[in-house]
Parts: sequence; C-alpha cells; structure tokens
Amino acid sequence: MKKLSMIILLTLSTLGALAYETYTTIKIPSHKHNEMSYQIAWCKKHNGIIEYENPDKTRVDCLTELYAVEFDFYNKWAESIGQALYYGFMTGKRPKVVLILENQKWQMVYYNRILKLSEIYNFDVEYVTNDILNLDENGKCFNKECKCYKNDYSQQDK
Ligand SMILES: [Zn+2]
Repeated sequence: MKKLSMIILLTLSTLGALAYETYTTIKIPSHKHNEMSYQIAWCKKHNGIIEYENPDKTRVDCLTELYAVEFDFYNKWAESIGQALYYGFMTGKRPKVVLILENQKWQMVYYNRILKLSEIYNFDVEYVTNDILNLDENGKCFNKECKCYKNDYSQQDK
C-alpha cells in the first residue's frame, strides 16, 4: 500500500514537472498596451489610414501617402518584415516596419536586425517606445479601448 502511494506520488510529481516544463518553455510575452494603441498614435501623427483593406482582404496596419506600414512587438520582428513587404507590394507604397519597443535596453537588438535587412532589401524601419502613448501618472495610455484600462489584475494576460 505504502509502495503504491509512493509510485502514484512519484508519477504525479513527474507529470507535474513535465507540465511545468512544457508550460514554461512556451513563452508568450505579455504586453502592457495593445499593439493597436501604438498603431493609432503613430498613424494619426502621420495622417495615415488605419487598417487599410487590400482587395485580398489583408489589412495594412497603417497606410500613409508614402508607406505601407506594419506594426509589431519585438517578438514578431521576423514576421513584421514579410508583412510589410507584402503590403508594400499590394499597395504600391514603400514597405515600412514600425517595431514597438517596450524596453529599449534589451529589445534594441531586434530593431537592429531589421535595420540591417532594410538596408539590403529596400524597405524602411523605425521604432516607437511608450513615449508615443502619452501615458498618464497611472501608466494608462490615451486609448480607452486599450487593455491598460481593463482590470489591473489581468495585465499578465496576452
Ligand atoms: Zn494602453
């Protein structure tokens, strides 16, 4: 009896450790503000059209007179290039990535990767920080639809 419960206990703890490991290796970065908040702030500043729809139903994050712009957080740096190039192709505008850096200290490396490629592959890139969000003293941004306004306990969610 004792042996059996020991085995069960061991099995459970192994499963637990496995589950933990699986859970922790799939790292989903949490962002304090929605991508859309940065997108609106930048696009308004540049007199662009937010979520411009192409004939094939894909959407450009922001279409300006010169640029087809794709916004992304650092973790989607590679994907952002493909999207910008495609939106440029679809609209005839110059492709541009606007990379969102919530923490410049360690996220700058991702911007630099895109910058290197932009010099070779003929597209533009710039980065924005939280400065563009006009944060108030509580760290909430200008966009009332942003998740920084949802309950403060869920800031760890997506
Ligand atoms: Zn916000």
